[in-house]
This record gives sequence, C-alpha cells and structure tokens, in this order.
Amino acid sequence: MISLGIEGTAHTIGIGIVEDKNKKCNVLSNVSKMYKPATGGIHPREAANHHAFFLPKILKEAIKSARIEIDDIDVLGFSIGPGLGPCLRTVATASRAMALKYKKPIIGVNHCIAHLEIGRALTGAKDPVLLYASGGNTQVIAFLDRKYRIFGETLDIGIGNCLDKFGREIGISFPAGPEIEKLAEKGRKYIHLPYSVKGMDVAFSGILTAAIHLLKKESKEDISHSLQETCFSMLAEVTERAMAHTDKGEVLLGGGVAANKRLQAIIKKMAEERGAKFYVPSKKYLVDNGAMIAWTALLMYKSGYRMKIDETKIRQNFRTDEVEIKWRS
Ligand code: AMP
Ligand code: MG
Repeated sequence: MISLGIEGTAHTIGIGIVEDKNKKCNVLSNVSKMYKPATGGIHPREAANHHAFFLPKILKEAIKSARIEIDDIDVLGFSIGPGLGPCLRTVATASRAMALKYKKPIIGVNHCIAHLEIGRALTGAKDPVLLYASGGNTQVIAFLDRKYRIFGETLDIGIGNCLDKFGREIGISFPAGPEIEKLAEKGRKYIHLPYSVKGMDVAFSGILTAAIHLLKKESKEDISHSLQETCFSMLAEVTERAMAHTDKGEVLLGGGVAANKRLQAIIKKMAEERGAKFYVPSKKYLVDNGAMIAWTALLMYKSGYRMKIDETKIRQNFRTDEVEIKWRS
C-alpha cells in the first residue's frame, strides 16, 4: 500500500510518500520547504501563503522522486491539527481538492501522533515514551489503554518557541535553536534560572524572561548554556517520571528541538541510568515532514479509519488523546 501525506501545521510544508513493505515503513520520498520570516516570529497568514505557493512544486517533486504515478497512491493523508489556522486550512483545502479530483480516500492525521509513529517506524522503538519537543509543542506522550496520552506538557510556550524568542533578542533569526546550541557549547558558567516543573508539566515563559534580563550583565554564550541546561533538565525530569509511571523501558525523541545534541545526551543518560533504551530518528524525520503524515495515514487507513470530506474540518487544538488508536493492541 502506498500513502501520500501532506504536512503543514506551522512553518513547514512537506509532502512524503511511503509504502509498507513487510509491515515496515519504506519512505519513497520526503520533500519539504520551510517558511522563514525575514524578521520576528512566524506570521500565520504569510506561512499559509508560502505553503500555497510551494505545495504544487513539492508535490511534483515528491511524486517524481518516489518514481510513482498519482494512480499508485492508495490513501491521502494530511495534517488536520493541532497547528496554526491559516496553515491548516490551506493544506486541508489542497488535500480535499486532490482527494476529490483523483478519487482517493482522505484521512486527517493528528500531527503529534505522526511524530511518534514515524519515530517508532524508523528507529525500531516498540512502545516508547515520546518526548516531543518542537517549536509550538512540548509534550510527553505514551500509549496506555488504547490512546496516546499526554503525561506532561508545557503550560505556556513550546521549548522551541522559548529558544527562538531568546534568539530574537540576541539577533538570531528563526529558527534560532541551532545557533543557540553552538553558543551554548562555548558557555563556561552556569547561571541560575528559574527551574519550572509543576507536577508533570513544565513552563518556559518565566525562564525566557529571566534569560532576557540576564543579557544586561552576562554573556550570550553563558546564558545560552544555562538556558539549555535548565530547560532540558526539566524535560528530562518529567520524561523520566512518565517512564517510571507507565513502566516503559524505551524513550523516543521527536520534534525539531530534539535535533539538539545536548538534549539528546541528557535524555540518553537518563535512559541509561534507568536501564532503558534511547531512540532518536534522523533530523529530517524529527522536524515536521510529510513522511510522518503519510505513514500515520497508512496505519489509520489499514486499521479501518475512513473520513468523509465533511469530516475533514481542521482541528486547531486537536489533542493527542482524542484519537482512538486502532492500529495498536
Ligand atoms: P519543529 O517545530 O518540530 O519543526 O521544530 C522547529 C523548532 O526546532 C524551532 O523552534 C527551532 O529553533 C528548533 N530547533 C531546530 N534545531 C534545533 C537545535 N539544534 N537545538 C535546539 N532547537 C532546535
Ligand atoms: Mg512538529
């Protein structure tokens, strides 16, 4: 079975084509284009225009590099939420048009679950706790009793958004995470920042404000280092507690921030100390991508999910635990 998936919840428009070969995920193509604002953060309408402009181009490219014809596609998936309204609507409209024109079944996919499923498919993790650390989302997710449940999450902004906003203050444009990672490597001093874990949840906006204030007297290298250490330790703490609570022996990373080598090292060490396994997919499957939507749509379709066109309304605040997971036992 071949599935085409379209991702477009925020800054990236992506199209992936995957097939299941002996129950394994074989990625035939995975093409994407990222919107980068000239200044400031993501402007939802501009990002949506970007997606509308590039979608036809990357669609052609994805089909060409997968060496298939439109006719070969068995199911069409798209990111139905959560995400930015204008971006979601643009992708949903294009997906509906394609489904009707080419007479393909259409399936709206939960973006966060797609991160988890592509990670499972490509790393070999079977039943992991996922630390999903991205720009807009930060959640600790695990499978329990037919659903992917959220065991902890940010109470305010996503970890990536925290890094991007700090980056903006020191003149780094979006996405700032990779530059901050480099600065942090040069940092020598740990400066105290408000460590903010509340039960199983985390909060980043207070730390961000404190880090910005520190810019008056401390170096950006030391602050970047301290910001990373503080935020990543918080994530490790809640992820570890979710692992203990669910009694799971695997941890998986997802989301763009998970490309950060320091975050990877901290989570890996935590896993090793618990005797658990650590998994991280390669960067192109950590960031938002079409292949993850295609693969999850394929799993959903094969387990019996069907959607009528009028059920494909976007879901801006779509929660991970609203989806019944029929493809896992
Ligand atoms: P996503 O929203 O999952 O596509 O990921 C985008 C976010 O990941 C942005 O906020 C980036 O700043 C962040 N990011 C990307 N690479 C890194 C990195 N090496 N370290 C920290 N954050 C990163
Ligand atoms: Mg994402």
